[in-house]
Amino acid sequence: MEKLYKRLMEKTYEIVTLGEVLGLIGWDFEVMMPPKGAGQRGKQMAYLQGLIHEKFTDPKIGQLLKEIKEHKEYDKLTDLQKRNIYLLQRDYDRQTKVPTDLVKEIAELQAKSAVIWKEAREKSDFALFKPSLEKIIELQEKRVKYIDPSKPPYEVMLDEYEPGFTSDLYTKLFNELKEGLIPLIKKCVSSSNQPDISLIRRHCPKSVQKELEEKEIIPILGYDLEAGRLDTTVHPFTSGSYDDVRITTRYDENNFAQSFFAVMHEAGHGIYNQNLFKECRQQPIAEPCSGGMHESQSRFFENIIGRSPEFWEFLLPKFKKITGSIFEDVEKDSFLHAINRVKQSPIRVEADEVTYGLHIILRFEIERDIFAGKVKVDDLPKLWNAKMKEYLDYDVKSDAEGVLQDTHWSWGLFGYFPNYALGNLYGAQLLNQLAKDIPDYRSQIRQGNVLKLKGWLVKHIHLLGSRYDPLDLIKHVTGEELNPQYFLNYLTEKYSKIYGF
Ligand code: ZN
Repeated sequence: MEKLYKRLMEKTYEIVTLGEVLGLIGWDFEVMMPPKGAGQRGKQMAYLQGLIHEKFTDPKIGQLLKEIKEHKEYDKLTDLQKRNIYLLQRDYDRQTKVPTDLVKEIAELQAKSAVIWKEAREKSDFALFKPSLEKIIELQEKRVKYIDPSKPPYEVMLDEYEPGFTSDLYTKLFNELKEGLIPLIKKCVSSSNQPDISLIRRHCPKSVQKELEEKEIIPILGYDLEAGRLDTTVHPFTSGSYDDVRITTRYDENNFAQSFFAVMHEAGHGIYNQNLFKECRQQPIAEPCSGGMHESQSRFFENIIGRSPEFWEFLLPKFKKITGSIFEDVEKDSFLHAINRVKQSPIRVEADEVTYGLHIILRFEIERDIFAGKVKVDDLPKLWNAKMKEYLDYDVKSDAEGVLQDTHWSWGLFGYFPNYALGNLYGAQLLNQLAKDIPDYRSQIRQGNVLKLKGWLVKHIHLLGSRYDPLDLIKHVTGEELNPQYFLNYLTEKYSKIYGF
């Protein structure tokens, strides 16, 4: 038994190590590579991807899993070992059940569609993207039928990205969220107390912003630069794990907040990956719990800490010192209001903490209804615009700022959006528990002791990796089922003070 388990872990080690190498050359592709290197790098990445797929779908892995599970000494395995077996089997089934020809067909279609989507968005012409989208939906349905023919397609997709979630559960959570968010947004935008955005639009050189991030923000949060890096890219992202976790940002010299909060966000992702359980390194149980849980950590640092009044009480004097004459006259309250402006806007990635959830709910409802056969691809722009009007009171002016704005569908990523919203729900419920364990957490932030909060998150989330599925992890840490009221309460308390209602 021990031998079988050891052999399986050796195979996993190989796959994870190759994945790390792929991640590293992927980082280089985005950050350092000279422009002419793209073709060469593309081939290297495709080769490695193929190799990883081949190793992961090796029938020997299936055989080892079977032998271990049927072994008379199976019960002697520890809970952690059993969890490793469960997670490997889950991934193995997903990878091996879909025929290779279909995997290839999907990959080719997605690469083409991504190019077509880009052109369609530039021309703001949904009709151009429509035939590809129809084909993507058809192939994705076909793909998940192989994974679990007993379940409706969208259920399989949702479970792939956030294990344990169903469309019924999302519908329930999101309806509750929608009911709370819509009136809250109305209160904010109709308040006579509106922020002066010009405060954060003052010209601030990139070098000053970078100094602020590296000297103040990163050390306060506890993202370890000895085990990481901060670089510049078009789209900020985080890659790597343990002792080599890299984050990126992008700068706008007329809006310091863009990079400032991107760094806090990515540092949140980075801290999670730096603090995974080292003793089980390169085993499935030490992987991060889920996409939604990862997003809860990034938003915890970016929003719950980074946009809080307590944090700015601590940071503003230091901020002014580094930025010199640029912000020397700003006052804490008006500055805080400017970085927490609530505004109904068409673009998801630019949305604030309060309106963000509605952008996700809209996408979820559309995806759910596509796969339930209730919506035709033809009707998507109209449906999108109607929902934008209903939820965010916004008249969409073009397909580019409406249905074509995100790249996800061109890559076949259906069921992915909802976990962005879960990040907020998990985060607020975790905060509620953290407040019980560290009752003076607000004054800790006020004194700059963010490391104390980070330590709590490391202990309760990061170190636990994938030992639980996300819903179980939330229950394990907070003693309760996932409850969107925590997020609504957090928003109401914060924004009623900021907007004065
Ligand atoms: Zn993120």
